Amino acid sequence: MYFKLNELEKVVNTKVYDEIHKQEIERTIIFRENPIFMSRARIEPSREERKIETDFAYPIKVKEEECFFCHPNEKCSKFRHENLSPIYFLNESVVFSNLYPIDEIMGVVVYDYKRHVVSPLELNSSHWRDGLLLVKKVFESSGKKYVYNHLNFGPKSAASIEHFHGQFICSNYESILTSRVRENARKLEVSPRLALKSWIEALDEKGLILKRDENTSTYLFVEWAPVFGKSELVITSTYHSNLGEMEDLEIQKVAEFLELGSKLFFTHVSNQFTIINVASFKSDEFCNQFRIVARAPLEQGMKSWEGFLELSGESVPNILPEALAQKLKNELR
Ligand SMILES: [Zn+2]
Repeated sequence: MYFKLNELEKVVNTKVYDEIHKQEIERTIIFRENPIFMSRARIEPSREERKIETDFAYPIKVKEEECFFCHPNEKCSKFRHENLSPIYFLNESVVFSNLYPIDEIMGVVVYDYKRHVVSPLELNSSHWRDGLLLVKKVFESSGKKYVYNHLNFGPKSAASIEHFHGQFICSNYESILTSRVRENARKLEVSPRLALKSWIEALDEKGLILKRDENTSTYLFVEWAPVFGKSELVITSTYHSNLGEMEDLEIQKVAEFLELGSKLFFTHVSNQFTIINVASFKSDEFCNQFRIVARAPLEQGMKSWEGFLELSGESVPNILPEALAQKLKNELR
């Protein structure tokens, strides 16, 4: 199949009279449909000039000696599940149970517990790789059908502890998002995997791919029609449906792209973010995706929330994705 992005885009022009400056203003809004997620982006970057400002929440600072995640054996919750060990270590990484699980198995992954790490700039790809490997290990032991490895960073992304960490859920419940992607692909009469691969090909023509590895078919790209936030970077390995079936080479590559993507995002897009993992069961025709979504102002410049539009399933990007891709590519040179 082949996505024609030009057919998924409409330009809407409108005029308003600005009573304060006594002038007529023309506004141009670019509508972009995302058929895989059945979402819409309304791109009008000058909307960011609105004077409303969101409060900037600062993380609760804790000293290293008081931080839970610096002392996982002594201070962190343990799994109490017949198939699982209480806690898992690999090099500087550790996983253990969330104290407030929202499923039968919900864990925390700390990529480097040996240092009090509070930013993605302090992590390297080995930390990301070891974290992914540990989550994979727990998933394999869990006997569950699905694994989702998400991450909240910063108080506006609901991270309650500043020490940089991810979360994961091993579940027999499919995420609503996964079901939605599958249903949308069915309407397009292709598998979810083929839909996303075709989407990536279309985005490639627009210059939105920041990094690729042909060997493992892994990509880092800027989303053309952001689904969840104002700007999105996506890391996906298109060979496999979830972390549990990814091979070491793929995990290594995804880890490298997670390191790069999170650092670029933190430095140039939004210094608080969510990574949402969209994945499916083993041997499904799906692409395991990690979508980095903006949550908060970079230097308090970005307006975080768009209220009812977000709840309508629409996003209001602060920058044209092609412009963001160009900016990030310049940084990579
Ligand atoms: Zn710590």
